[in-house]
Amino acid sequence: MVKFIGAHVSASGGVENAPKNAADIKATAFALFTKNQKQWFAPALSAVSVEAFKKVCADCGFTAESILPHDSYLINLGHPTDEGLEKSRTSFTEEMKRCEILGLDRLNFHPGSHLREITVSECLTRIAESINIALDKTHGVTAVIENTAGQGSNVGFEFEQLAEIIEQVEDKSRVGICIDTCHAFAAGYDLTTDAACEKTFAKLDKTVGLKYLRGMHLNDAKKTLASKVDRHETLGNGAIGLDCFKWLVRQPFTDNIPLILETPEPERWPEEISLLKSFI
Ligand SMILES: [Zn+2]
Ligand SMILES: [Zn+2]
Repeated sequence: MVKFIGAHVSASGGVENAPKNAADIKATAFALFTKNQKQWFAPALSAVSVEAFKKVCADCGFTAESILPHDSYLINLGHPTDEGLEKSRTSFTEEMKRCEILGLDRLNFHPGSHLREITVSECLTRIAESINIALDKTHGVTAVIENTAGQGSNVGFEFEQLAEIIEQVEDKSRVGICIDTCHAFAAGYDLTTDAACEKTFAKLDKTVGLKYLRGMHLNDAKKTLASKVDRHETLGNGAIGLDCFKWLVRQPFTDNIPLILETPEPERWPEEISLLKSFI
């Protein structure tokens, strides 16, 4: 069994810097933004940058299954207005294409928000349609839906909502999920003990299916269970605690997928990565 463990590293100065930044902290996986995450669109990746990215990945031993790109925070694939939806769909499809060009096989994204203008169910249908459109226009890249904390009008905090999206995606071979531990806990899924973890992931398996799991975000939580607040904490310093992460890295379902820290103290990532490795 192989565990890929890393963090969401900086790609500042070019995507090719991300694998180097990951290798520097002894990560065996990494997440990155393939463009400025605060902008809708970006110039195309240069051939030089793409080749450099592939070379550094190969040199450092990173394969597509250990890399989890994340899309822009502006994108809302369930947007209630036609204009917002159209812009999000165009931007998301471009992000999928950037992954394809980089030789990556999955793109992690937050499902969307209804902005209190449409129902949750209508929002979920829009998200599924957005995924269908993006999959039609791209090849080889899986759309990886992240569970949310349920903050504001964000959907995707209940496992049933993730299932409802997947149900309406035509090509089930190119849709997946990423479970963020902080978000799950904030949404009300207990992860504080082995028994609680067993129960939460059995529920996920029954509702969605663990076979859809294409990545995980390993974050402790600043706030309490079911707080609906998305505030990440360093592993062991939050309300979830270390037992959850010890349990997770020992499960077969976390083999061969990127396990990514998005914890708030990058200077502690080397320590957190080595701690996770020691738990295996
Ligand atoms: Zn996350
Ligand atoms: Zn978060």
